[in-house]
Amino acid sequence: MIFAQLSVGKMQNYSYLFADPTSREGLLIDPAFDHEHILATIKEQGINLTKIILSHHHFDHINATAQIKSHTGAEVICHRETASLLHGGASYDRLIDDGYSFRLGENAEVICIHTPGHAPGSLCVIVDNRWLVTADTLFIGDCGRADLPGSDPEELFKSLQKLKLLPDHLIVCPGHDYGTAPTRTLGEEKRSNPTLIATSLEEFYKLP
Ligand SMILES: [Zn+2]
Repeated sequence: MIFAQLSVGKMQNYSYLFADPTSREGLLIDPAFDHEHILATIKEQGINLTKIILSHHHFDHINATAQIKSHTGAEVICHRETASLLHGGASYDRLIDDGYSFRLGENAEVICIHTPGHAPGSLCVIVDNRWLVTADTLFIGDCGRADLPGSDPEELFKSLQKLKLLPDHLIVCPGHDYGTAPTRTLGEEKRSNPTLIATSLEEFYKLP
């Protein structure tokens, strides 16, 4: 699988590009800020971008959607709860629910998990049983904010419990470069990230 973690914009955001090495069929998660950089990478790698997933509706994750869509024709996918919150020219082609999956190329499976809390339509995405794009639900060493309009801390806690059930080998790909490393395995996060170590809502609320 071709994998690229692209640093975009001035808010330490990451856009993620995946592609099947044989068919070159590609998936972009969170098209933001620097559409020229993203499009150049797609071209350099000879990728045929067919899907775009919006992890949630915040502008710093979607503000290059219209440009990437118009250059590639890729299908834009987001969670049902994200639909009414989209803005800044971003539109969708497919609304999905928890568990929506599709194949990228011949062999790689992409699975979308609904993880509300930071935003109502937040998604985490498993790619090829190797990567877990967590966007603003889980960062390296921390979790996303739950004090924004539309956020729900109890839902975020439940979503983090859901992520804890996933296998340790998955590589956590956060939506921002806020941690001590750009990625880390989910196993390492389970052992060291206080927001995953918390086992009750009470403990979770006490975290700084
Ligand atoms: Zn966000």
